[in-house]
Amino acid sequence: MVQIKDMKKSFDVEVLKGITLDVHQGDVLAVIGSSGSGKSTMLRCLIDLEKVDSGTVIIEGDPLVQDGVYVSQGEIQKLILKMGMVFQHFNLFPHLTVRQNLELAPKLVKQQDPKTIRENAQKYLSKVGMLSKADVFPASLSGGQKQRVAIARALMMNPDIMLFDEPTSALDPELTGEVLETIRQLAEENMTMIVVTHEMGFAREVANRVVFMDGGVILEEGTPDEVFGNPKCDRTREFLTTVL
Ligand code: ATP
Ligand code: MG
Repeated sequence: MVQIKDMKKSFDVEVLKGITLDVHQGDVLAVIGSSGSGKSTMLRCLIDLEKVDSGTVIIEGDPLVQDGVYVSQGEIQKLILKMGMVFQHFNLFPHLTVRQNLELAPKLVKQQDPKTIRENAQKYLSKVGMLSKADVFPASLSGGQKQRVAIARALMMNPDIMLFDEPTSALDPELTGEVLETIRQLAEENMTMIVVTHEMGFAREVANRVVFMDGGVILEEGTPDEVFGNPKCDRTREFLTTVL
């Protein structure tokens, strides 16, 4: 579904040093690793918030970038619409109500008809348990509620793949559960997901594959039991003892 081959990206220094990764339909891929290892940069490259320097990214069979050469801007737009992204800091529009936050992109980007948009907003708000807050502004929501709205907003675009970048790390501990539960529900519905997380319990329970990134490379990859239960690399073991 997503194929990444030898993806490299430098800012001042090289941050991604050749990432190769295949994500299959229905995968829930947990990406773990210490701060600065390149996890966010990898996600951001997938949805074109950053440009790679070299390598290949293929989204559902179509290249986004091939050996460092990007497809046309129009093609890029089409491909990134297949993915929805949820950020650590929610990124809701503060001047729009919850419902307006959901309805904006379908209106502007997809030009769907108002009735469909309204129905979808109802559907996804109720899915994340936020229908009763449809007409309030984000400022009056808790962090967990904001994040659930952000998830509903991403679902409005009907993505085939959801990318989560530490969706719970800005939340108070008592609010992480409700967000993880929402993501778990999506997993049960077979949504393909890449979840960057430091919630090891969640990764172990919900992911079917775990990737450990370190210093811009994927150091280890396997099932949760393999990576958490019997890590191959010393570095993985070291990381896990600091976070578990
Ligand atoms: P964290 O767990 O803290 O979120 P991460 O694994 O997501 O870390 P990245 O955010 O991908 O790490 O950052 C990897 C490295 O790239 C870091 O050293 C960071 O400072 C650097 N970096 C990221 N974005 C930029 C940027 N826009 N300009 C310059 N350097 C950047
Ligand atoms: Mg990050």
